[in-house]
Amino acid sequence: MDFAPPPKTLELVARYRAFVDEELLKLEPLVLAKPFGSCLPVLNQARTQAKVRGLWAPQIPQEHGGLGLSLVELAFVGEALGGCPLGHWAVNFQPPDAGNLELLHLFGSADQKERFLKPVVDGAARSCFAMTEPDRPGSNPTWLETTARKEGSQWVINGHKWFTSGADGAAYAIVMASTNDEGKPHERASMILVPMSTPGVSLVRNLPVMGEAGSDWASHSEVTFVDVKVPLSHLLGQEGHGFTLAQERLGPGRIHHCMRWLGICQRAFELMMKRAVDRPVAPFRALGQQQMVQRYVAESAIQIEAARWLVLKTAWVIDTQGQKAARDDIAMIKVLVARTLQDVLDRAIQVHGGLGLLDDLPLAWFFRHERAARIYDGPDEVHLASLAKRLLGARGLAR
Ligand SMILES: Cc1cc2nc3c(=O)[nH]c(=O)nc-3n(C[C@H](O)[C@H](O)[C@H](O)COP(=O)(O)OP(=O)(O)OC[C@H]3O[C@@H](n4cnc5c(N)ncnc54)[C@H](O)[C@@H]3O)c2cc1C
Repeated sequence: MDFAPPPKTLELVARYRAFVDEELLKLEPLVLAKPFGSCLPVLNQARTQAKVRGLWAPQIPQEHGGLGLSLVELAFVGEALGGCPLGHWAVNFQPPDAGNLELLHLFGSADQKERFLKPVVDGAARSCFAMTEPDRPGSNPTWLETTARKEGSQWVINGHKWFTSGADGAAYAIVMASTNDEGKPHERASMILVPMSTPGVSLVRNLPVMGEAGSDWASHSEVTFVDVKVPLSHLLGQEGHGFTLAQERLGPGRIHHCMRWLGICQRAFELMMKRAVDRPVAPFRALGQQQMVQRYVAESAIQIEAARWLVLKTAWVIDTQGQKAARDDIAMIKVLVARTLQDVLDRAIQVHGGLGLLDDLPLAWFFRHERAARIYDGPDEVHLASLAKRLLGARGLAR
């Protein structure tokens, strides 16, 4: 077993790190202080630079205009980008578009690819994914209130969604709706492409997540659909396959999140160590000479290192054996990395004292924006339960 990354990967990661250091970190104070949408004219220059440097869309297959990296390569790249709030967005590797593009690439018709995939790959448009509803449990996507009924040559969609990330300014949503309420639970829903400009689609509000409503890509919206009509050809994949497609989307989606969270962990860890070295608690005594702080440093290092290797192993299993073979690993990293993220960020804030709570540093921003890591794409409890059931089931325990 060889743990050394290939030279080609190291060279690629160095280019991404240079991009973050030279182009993105100088823009970070803007994003920490102002609504994302108001900064777009300046931020878009970073996207232009990403294209010039040949770093655009690392996760997209080459035939669609991306770099077509393997998941193992993406794990290194995702961590390099994740330490800056702008990293993934600047190279068009941001959620929810990354997952939506994966769906369109795998299941879109030629026409859907041209109309919906291409503009997002080019960076000319953004998309969103509308599955979660205020009145039904998001952790059980087989039970949706939103419906799509066939009327002649059209789908007529009615429903209420929330936490639709990036809906503000998105060109279209992939809407998960029940197309057969009487079907088997896993065969009731379908995914339908809905341009946000379609009559009947209303963006009610950007939700105030941890006190910040955000704007544009950096927001999560409440959206209603009232008698929204789109052609039958807007069905993505097959009718009744919405749940299966959602699982296809969430597998790579979860590991992409984990890669980004590792970048945040590493950035928070480096800030923590710098503070531990630089900050005196008394004349000639640094914070890092206190045993409690040493414990924070050591525990963070252990957690990050363990999380990183499990993410890399999971990426390797998916690359070599497919997503199904990595089901347990994906559940493990989703829980482990989200917890590590929360622990490391909390310690980094603690070590900075009051400064840790200010937006002079990215720690509080990350904490506000990433507390959700233990909730979205499956809450911890759901992953823990399904992992334990599979492990015990393999020992013969009935589900
Ligand atoms: C910042 C953010 C961004 C999001 N972006 C999107 C998006 O772009 N598109 C989208 O469709 N959704 C999005 N979501 C929604 C997210 O996927 C849901 O919040 C998540 O699936 C949980 O659903 P829920 O909020 O309805 O909580 P519920 O399903 O009501 O669950 C609440 C809590 O109950 C517990 N619980 C649930 N099920 C079980 C179980 N089986 N066993 C034990 N305990 C359980 C867990 O503690 C869970 O946190 C986002 C959420 C957040 C916070």
